[in-house]
Amino acid sequence: MTADLRISGTRLWDTLCETAQFGAIPGTERGMCRLTLSDEDIAVRRWFVAACEAIGMTVTCDKVGTIYARRAGSDPALPPIAIGSHLDTQPTGGRFDGILGVLAGLEVVRTFHDAGITTRHPIEVIDWTNEEGARFAPAMVSSGVFAGVFSLDYALGQTDRDGVTLGEALARSGFVGEEDPGAHALAAHFELHIEQGPVLENEGVEIGVVSGVQGIRWYDVVVKGQTCHAGTTPMALRRDALHAAARLAVMIDDIGRSDPGASLSTIGQFQAYPGSRNTAPGEVRFTVDLRHPEVAGLDRMESTLGAAIATLERDLGVAIALSPVWSSPPVSFDPGVLDAIAGATQRLGFTHRTMLSGAGHDSVYTARVAPTGMIFIPCENGISHNVAENITPEQATRGANVLLQAVLDYDRIS
Ligand SMILES: [Zn+2]
Repeated sequence: MTADLRISGTRLWDTLCETAQFGAIPGTERGMCRLTLSDEDIAVRRWFVAACEAIGMTVTCDKVGTIYARRAGSDPALPPIAIGSHLDTQPTGGRFDGILGVLAGLEVVRTFHDAGITTRHPIEVIDWTNEEGARFAPAMVSSGVFAGVFSLDYALGQTDRDGVTLGEALARSGFVGEEDPGAHALAAHFELHIEQGPVLENEGVEIGVVSGVQGIRWYDVVVKGQTCHAGTTPMALRRDALHAAARLAVMIDDIGRSDPGASLSTIGQFQAYPGSRNTAPGEVRFTVDLRHPEVAGLDRMESTLGAAIATLERDLGVAIALSPVWSSPPVSFDPGVLDAIAGATQRLGFTHRTMLSGAGHDSVYTARVAPTGMIFIPCENGISHNVAENITPEQATRGANVLLQAVLDYDRIS
């Protein structure tokens, strides 16, 4: 019976289009600016609460403004199976990143409601506050508080560029709840998301079963040599910080290519000082971003980087300081949740592959406190965090049907 249950692709698509009015960027086809707790975010939150209450769900918030919309299950002793993601966007974002995950959750519950199906577990659709990190850093802050990674005070004290704290914006929004984040347990956390990369589209695969999220380590590098005159200093006598930094940049690129399909390295910012045309730079500052799905891989990349630095210091007479800035360990999602997702995908007859997520998501943090898994669908040209972000109604429908069937399966077996 429930194996035949399908969401309404038309209703899901209409909902995505209807709610895109809250923060649509004028003059763009699909661009969105719905910063956390802005008027646009508050408007879509109100819309979401009303839509959930209209089908009998109970809506509560926690102290960091995360919205939990719950549909009762048949066994009141069981914790809810959560379907979560985020309704906030980047300043020039799209209408699917995060939004699809929340609205597909609503669509799943609407489908249960229409079919008169009661699950054993309650079903909770979650809108996590400030996933994007665009208005308030860091990203994924409310799921981080939920998982105990950040304190509530830390989250509420983060300021936007006008000096408004998240706590102040939250108080103004009316979405402050009574509950401490993380005070209620989740039986599982499912997140449907666009891939935000090109792999599924390139391979012509319909569904990604996301087994985990790669680890990230960030560093600052400062190379110190000696500033000197471009015309009077023989090459042999120079300690050119930019020359050393450029050699190191090539070595860092090699580190990213050392384990194809797994290792990634990026230098995103690079500045030379004093920045004069006829002066060899005495100092260069740049950033390094290393990624790998395994801690051992990250460790190996970091030690290769250290060895490269030691070699250049010795050969070029410069001093190179490497400072860790931030790190996020690799995450492996729950085998039981992944089985439910892979099983649903197979039964529905969709082509699929197992993959890692290259980007961070709320599921990274929920995975610390609840069995968690993610479903990816392709997006056009792999583009996201961009007004050109796009998917087709068919892709959204496939993803939401996998979500629905995976949740039903998990409800049965766990
Ligand atoms: Zn997202």
